Amino acid sequence: MTSEEFRRYGRQVVDWIADYHEQIESLPVLSQVSPGRIRDRLPAAPPEQGEDFDAVLADLDEILLPGITHWQHPSFFAYFPANASGPAILGDLLASGLGVQGMLWATSPAATELETHVLDWLADLLALPDAFRSSDTGGGVIQHSASDATLVALLAALHRVSGGASERDGVASGRYAVYSSAQTHSSLEKACRIAGLGNAALRKLDPDPATLAATPTQLRELMDRDVADGITPALVVASIGTTGTGAIDPVRELAEIAREHGAWVHVDAAWAGVAAVAPEFRWINDGVDLVDSYATNPHKWLLTNFDCDAFWVADRSALVGALSILPEYLRNTATDSGAVIDYRDWQVPLGRRFRALKLWAVLRWYGAEGLRDHIRNHVALAQEFESWVRADDRFELAAPRTLSLVTFRLRSGDDDTRALMERVNASGRMYLTHTLVDGKVALRMAIGATPTERRHVEAAWAQLSE
Ligand code: PLP
Repeated sequence: MTSEEFRRYGRQVVDWIADYHEQIESLPVLSQVSPGRIRDRLPAAPPEQGEDFDAVLADLDEILLPGITHWQHPSFFAYFPANASGPAILGDLLASGLGVQGMLWATSPAATELETHVLDWLADLLALPDAFRSSDTGGGVIQHSASDATLVALLAALHRVSGGASERDGVASGRYAVYSSAQTHSSLEKACRIAGLGNAALRKLDPDPATLAATPTQLRELMDRDVADGITPALVVASIGTTGTGAIDPVRELAEIAREHGAWVHVDAAWAGVAAVAPEFRWINDGVDLVDSYATNPHKWLLTNFDCDAFWVADRSALVGALSILPEYLRNTATDSGAVIDYRDWQVPLGRRFRALKLWAVLRWYGAEGLRDHIRNHVALAQEFESWVRADDRFELAAPRTLSLVTFRLRSGDDDTRALMERVNASGRMYLTHTLVDGKVALRMAIGATPTERRHVEAAWAQLSE
């Protein structure tokens, strides 16, 4: 593709994206295609001769668009929305244009230094503890996802608790234990498998029936029992905003108990953490001054396209100790000097995209004020939605509302609640998903898509209550 062709098609693609966002409301939120429908329409073999980019764009409209669930639709209330924005898309495009692979400081100093700087900015915006700053003992890094953050936190925890033996000798089955609420995201169980501990190492705490948050007394009991059995507590994961209901674990109490036992504490605040841009929501982070690592996803609720998980550690040496291997072919004078960060040592893969560009673009475009407005607006909409649920005798809240997540159900039972969800989702006019609370089906109204306005939430409630 020549520069001229790139310019022409590039303009077309930007126009396509702008048109898509302008007309997204007229599309069914949830893709209605049946399995295999998209592949059936694709040629069996790749083309022998190259094709025009026009043909790619035509197939995007014709073949792929019907198979897209529109995550940027204002009536997308499912899972946790993954919100995008103009500045983030443009930042991502610039990162693609630069095509940088920022595994080492030396492979693109600006990619590393911007990332370190932007993560310090974000730590300031969220009022996170000083130790998480690069100027202190810790620092931040962008991971692909919150699941990666949990995995690297576990590896750092094993490094610290074993004094470095975990990398050398591996982790014998039954030697280490990991603790979290039963409501913690399944990525922790996956991390235990990947790290070689197995599911059996994971101790799940029963959530408090009223708040669905972890119970500290049970943590102490389980840890004491493990220690008596010769098992070393390695990691405690506390959630600030669980996936099911948005429950917030008592981080301070959990961290105090974990510290007594020498275990690492990681906070998974994948969705809720970014709400701390607004001072009135900073209560969610009570106790994070005692934790070892913290993750939140700007790609969920801070206007930054997937993928962008912000991960901080209070002491970077354990993380780097767990993950650093320096083969000859990566040696360079900057690394040898010890004066630079090589982010390959802070993550599982070697290679990495220049993801800081899109986060930088977002923080600069919206400013702290714009980010606060974005969060406050969604929380206010959820408050209103909650009041409508409360005022209707046919419905009940299934759990307390957290920020912009309302969990509710029909009083008449699981079959009706499920049928309601299936009907509204099949209409294409809105999309929401479910969870189980106390073994009963509950619907999750997760307000967080970038273009969602009051009228969309009102229309969703009108449809549900009809
Ligand atoms: N942790 C929590 C609390 C989540 O809600 C989610 C996803 O919704 C995850 C982790 C996994 O996120 P990711 O897709 O970034 O790995």
